[in-house]
Amino acid sequence: MTLNLTRRAAIAGVTAAPIAAAVASPLQAAGHGDAPKPMHARAFNVGDYTVHSLLAGTTPRDGVQAIFGGGATDEAFAEVAAENFISHDNAQFYFTPTLVDTGSEKILFDTGLNAGGITAALADAGVVPEDIDVVVLTHMHGDHIGGMTTEDGSATFANARYVTAAREYDHWTGLPEGNGGGDRVRATVSPQAGKMTFIEDGGTVASGVTGLAAFGHTPGHMIYMIESGGHQLLLTADLANHYVFPFAHPEWQTSFDTDKDAASASRRRVLEMLADSRVPMIGYHMPFPAAGFVEHRGEGFRFVPVSYQMMG
Ligand SMILES: [Zn+2]
Repeated sequence: MTLNLTRRAAIAGVTAAPIAAAVASPLQAAGHGDAPKPMHARAFNVGDYTVHSLLAGTTPRDGVQAIFGGGATDEAFAEVAAENFISHDNAQFYFTPTLVDTGSEKILFDTGLNAGGITAALADAGVVPEDIDVVVLTHMHGDHIGGMTTEDGSATFANARYVTAAREYDHWTGLPEGNGGGDRVRATVSPQAGKMTFIEDGGTVASGVTGLAAFGHTPGHMIYMIESGGHQLLLTADLANHYVFPFAHPEWQTSFDTDKDAASASRRRVLEMLADSRVPMIGYHMPFPAAGFVEHRGEGFRFVPVSYQMMG
């Protein structure tokens, strides 16, 4: 009886704060020296390239089913949550830009919510914003372009050139004045247009860095394949915005997706490719360090996070 009570109490304690436990252990484990400090950067090797996953921000959200369960029954949504040991109602959101250091260029994919978040995360990787050679914008939602400018409106990445999909830029800048997203892009991204390369599906950012169409989340949302020394890593950006629900049921609609059917089709196509090839991925909204693999599970998929092993 005592044993059962103890076990129940221990389990209740874990389920009461699953996010806190998940966040606290890698941060504490990553400390070095005599005063452990939170680390917001985690490095992986992909061939000769060094890839840094950067935690630029994190925030709790509720109403998870309304966000990730479009088309799901209450029962099916709750069942997937329970199978994966998470709440069906609230979730921790992560914002995780990626830095790819090719040895000749430092390429930053997305910029977080604001300049402070990305600058602090870069510092944990030993990098200052002036070191960034290329900023790739996977798409132009606020949580991806928010770090492009500092509070005084100047460019955070003073020495960078930029790369984005032509159709993404054209979409946002083509929206009428007064449209919140369009106005934000015109204020934040357009001032850098002179330093910007606009690519199409299959476009090259740098040697071994290729943009691939994954439209739907936004009209020009692109994902990026990183290849070096025979190793590959796919940066999946916002192909899936949660590490469980869009994997288990790619057809469930995500409220953030502009064209929900196109987003679901892109999701299934790319996750299928990742599961079949066993190529690792980093997803912008996966739990930090946001890196993992994809496996088939039932009619859908499962994200398998990287724990301690290195890639490549
Ligand atoms: Zn996003």
